[in-house]
Amino acid sequence: MTKKPEQSEQPAGESKTAQCPICDGAVDVESPNFPFCSGRCRLVDLGNWMKGDYTISREIKESDFDDPA
Ligand SMILES: [Zn+2]
Repeated sequence: MTKKPEQSEQPAGESKTAQCPICDGAVDVESPNFPFCSGRCRLVDLGNWMKGDYTISREIKESDFDDPA
């Protein structure tokens, strides 16, 4: 008599959740959309990047590329 390992015996503790950076909703850390709560929020985040909402807080200067060493 063989017994298959059962994965459904995990204790029903608190589910691990994180906060969606887009809508502040709860995100299951095991969700395929993590860290977003849904594919929609993932797209919203992508759209923010496209629109340039996420930018470097100051201009890049030529001196930034100078190697001090
Ligand atoms: Zn969300």
